[in-house]
Amino acid sequence: MRIVADLDRCVGAGQCVLTDAELFDQSEEDGTVRLLAERVDGEALDHARQAVNICPSQALSLTED
Ligand code: SF4
Repeated sequence: MRIVADLDRCVGAGQCVLTDAELFDQSEEDGTVRLLAERVDGEALDHARQAVNICPSQALSLTED
């Protein structure tokens, strides 16, 4: 699965980083999400799903491609 981040929706809340700091970081400029990995499986996929669920602005999604 691939993580997709919509930076127009991201409000820089940082919840995603708390789920997995190896998948997500935040811009030092405006706090918006930076993806550290795109393709995820196994435990990383579980963490990515958590991030998708807790992101307050629905900025994250997972896609099959
Ligand atoms: S949790 Fe959502 S709004 Fe917050 S930084 Fe991550 S993607 Fe952006």
